[in-house]
Amino acid sequence: MALVNEHFLKLPNNYLFADIAKKVNAFKAVHPKADVISLGIGDVTQPLCPAVVEAMHKATDEMANQQSFRGYGPEQGYDFLRDAILKNDFLARGIRLDRDEIFISDGAKTDTGNFQELLRWDNSIAVTDPIYPVYIDSNAMIGRAGVKGPDGRWSNVIYLPCTAENGFTPALPRQRVDVVYLCYPNNPTGTALTRSELRRWVRYALENDALILFDAAYEAFIQHDDVPHSIYEIKGARRVAIEFHSYSKSAGFTGLRCGYTVVPKEVSVSTLTGERLPLNPLWNRRQCTKFNGASYVSQRAAEATYSPEGRQQTRQTIDYYMQNAALIRQALTAIGLSVVGGIDAPYLWVQTPRGTTSWRFFEQLLYRAHVVSTPGVGFGPSGEGYVRLTAFNSRERTEEALERIRQFY
Ligand SMILES: *Cc1c(COP(=O)(O)O)cnc(C)c1O
Repeated sequence: MALVNEHFLKLPNNYLFADIAKKVNAFKAVHPKADVISLGIGDVTQPLCPAVVEAMHKATDEMANQQSFRGYGPEQGYDFLRDAILKNDFLARGIRLDRDEIFISDGAKTDTGNFQELLRWDNSIAVTDPIYPVYIDSNAMIGRAGVKGPDGRWSNVIYLPCTAENGFTPALPRQRVDVVYLCYPNNPTGTALTRSELRRWVRYALENDALILFDAAYEAFIQHDDVPHSIYEIKGARRVAIEFHSYSKSAGFTGLRCGYTVVPKEVSVSTLTGERLPLNPLWNRRQCTKFNGASYVSQRAAEATYSPEGRQQTRQTIDYYMQNAALIRQALTAIGLSVVGGIDAPYLWVQTPRGTTSWRFFEQLLYRAHVVSTPGVGFGPSGEGYVRLTAFNSRERTEEALERIRQFY
């Protein structure tokens, strides 16, 4: 008899986006003529840029030819991409990393979800609240998160609320924690951490021997100079932080799949007897066992985002989304809603009026403006009273959605 991993049974059945789809579909069934616009999607809409497409065509032709065909690649990724990353994402910002500290993957969800495997089940974990659900759910699957209570909180997770009271900047944990997940610029709040704010986290980790798992998936959307693109811009971070990157949002790779994880050789964890072990060889061992590399075509596509044309074209698409973000911010602020985010990230975190619940406001926007948002409470208890809007729709649809919200107000 095969026994189930009962930790899976503690995960909530309903996935947030399935609930949303159900409500939207029910609305459409009753109002078949309604033209529903989604500002809820966490997915990009603009096509791959020409430089990327050209690189993919070329890579495909190589695969079609006996002489240049490639089978399994290195589990850690091809050197051409690792070197392009070192040069463009790090050296250009004064960060020196070694090639074998970069691990190419098929995306940041995979790696942020899998990295916890290297850590004992009884580590304490802290997360900002609201949060990208992958961090907690992946820990819950091996029993590290405890059980989910009726208030939506997991019993073994330390929540760091990000609320209007603290300007959506999490306070340091009052107790020592072993592992902290940080995602900046943030999904879902769209807020960023300044250099001095991130420095406090690195200092906390150094002083408390904590590990920071830093998700930099939205790094490319940063507009301000005082917001670091990488945690390694902070002195000491390479001793305490792992960093996750993705081409999904920055270059439209959500369907193509490519990302990477930085595991500096200096980051170490402890055995029960106090011996220090570096995480880099452990992650390498894990990847070599369970991962056979990202596809050659995807890696050539990712490399192309760093060519002069690739950089200019991806920048253009990011600017397009960020102009949507600015329009959403202006329009909602003008009708009296409180909005944060949308400045260094493609997300806007909108406070519901007069204490309306997240789901109620979601329904109002859907029923009256035919606009889909994402209820903030779906991202954690501190998300109650907010909805998340995204800048990923087209300009025309975004403007149309804003006009309708204005009218419903
Ligand atoms: C979209 C997103 C990612 C990217 O995931 P991929 O697997 O690379 O597509 C990672 N982290 C956060 C917080 C995200 O919102």
